[in-house]
Amino acid sequence: MVDLHSQYLKIKPEVDQAIQEVIDSTAFIKGKAVFQFQDELAAYMGAKHTIACGNGTDALQIAMMSLGLNPGDEVITTPFTFISTIEVIKLLGMKPLLVDVEAGSFNLNPDLLESVVTERTRAIVPVHLFGQCAHMERMMDFASDHGLFVIEDNAQAIGTDYLFTDGSTRKAGTIGDVGTTSFFPSKNLGAYGDGGALFTHDDRLAEKLKALVNHGMKQRYYYDYVGVNSRLDTLQAAILRVKLKQLPAYHLARQQAALFYDEALSDIAGVKIPERSPHSTHIFHQYTIQVPAEIRDPLRQWLADKKIPSMVYYPVPLHLQRAYSDLGYRAGDLPVSEKLSTQVLSLPMHTELDREQLSFITGQIRAFFKI
Ligand SMILES: *Cc1c(COP(=O)(O)O)cnc(C)c1O
Repeated sequence: MVDLHSQYLKIKPEVDQAIQEVIDSTAFIKGKAVFQFQDELAAYMGAKHTIACGNGTDALQIAMMSLGLNPGDEVITTPFTFISTIEVIKLLGMKPLLVDVEAGSFNLNPDLLESVVTERTRAIVPVHLFGQCAHMERMMDFASDHGLFVIEDNAQAIGTDYLFTDGSTRKAGTIGDVGTTSFFPSKNLGAYGDGGALFTHDDRLAEKLKALVNHGMKQRYYYDYVGVNSRLDTLQAAILRVKLKQLPAYHLARQQAALFYDEALSDIAGVKIPERSPHSTHIFHQYTIQVPAEIRDPLRQWLADKKIPSMVYYPVPLHLQRAYSDLGYRAGDLPVSEKLSTQVLSLPMHTELDREQLSFITGQIRAFFKI
C-alpha cells in the first residue's frame, strides 16, 4: 500500500544528517528542530499557531480539552473514520453523536446535522477523509447557528485546500476553532514514528494548547491545567522538517497516480472512481473505489493472488463496533456508512508508484472485470 523505503532512499543524506545532528545535540525533547518545524508547518498551513504533539489521537483529545468540553457533553462526528475520532470523545466522558456521510465524498453529510443536535451538543468534528475536505462552509454555518466549536480532524488531508464559495481558499485544518493532524508514518506527511500537531488562529487557545501538551505547565513546575504528556520528539521533528519540503512534490506524485487510476478504471461499469468535491482539492491519502458488495472481496482476493495489496477502509462503521455498543446504535441506523463499508476498496497509493506498477495494477483490475 505504501513504499516508505524507496521514499527514504531519495532523501537519505538529508534525513541521516538531520538525525545525526539531533543525536549530537542530545536535546531529544523540546530541541531546536521542534520549534523550527512548528514555525515551518505554520507557514505552510497559513495557521497562526502550530503546536506539535505526540500523535494525531492525542491532538484530538487535547483539542477537546482546550475548548473546555465536559463529561456529558455531546460531540457530532462521523462513523466512517478511523477510531481515534470517537475514542477520545468517549475517553473524556462525552457522547459521540454520529451522523451519516455522503456516499460520494465519504464525508459528513451537512444535510443531516440538524437531525441530531440537542441542547447538550457542544462541538462538531468533521473529518477530511482520504484527502478531501468535508463541506466546511456548511459545517461552520451550522456550528455558528448552534453555538458549537469546530474541531477539524485533518489527519488525512494535510495540505488540502478548501475552496470557499467567494473564491478564497484555506488549508484544511485551519478553518475551525482547532485543527488536528497526524504524522503516523503512512500519512501524507509521515514521521519515522508517531507524531501529531494542532492548528489554531486564536492566541489564547494556542497558549493553552502549548501548556496542555506538556502537563498543563506554563512555567516550569507550575501547573495551570490538568494536561497530558504528549510532545513531538526532536528526532521526529528533524525528519519532518526534511519531509515537509518534499510535501508539494509528494502530493503531486499521488495526484498523478490518481489520474492514472481514473483514466484506466473509469470505463468499467462495476467500478465507481473517487468523486472530486467542487469545494476541495484532493491530496489522495487514499484512492478508494466503490464496487458492488458481492464482488468487493473476490476482487480483493484476485489482486492479492497477483501480489497487489489493497485495503478496506473501513470494514465496520464505528457505530457498530463492539466497544461502542453502549451508544445504542443498531445496524440500519447509518445506512450510507454501512453500505460503503461493504463496497469500498482502497488501492495502493503512495509517492513512489511508477507507470509500470500502475498499469500492472489497473490491468489486473480490468482482467477481473474481463475487459
Ligand atoms: C491516523 C488518523 C488519526 C490518528 O492519528 P495517530 O497519529 O495514529 O494517533 C486520527 N484520525 C484520522 C482520520 C486518522 O486517519
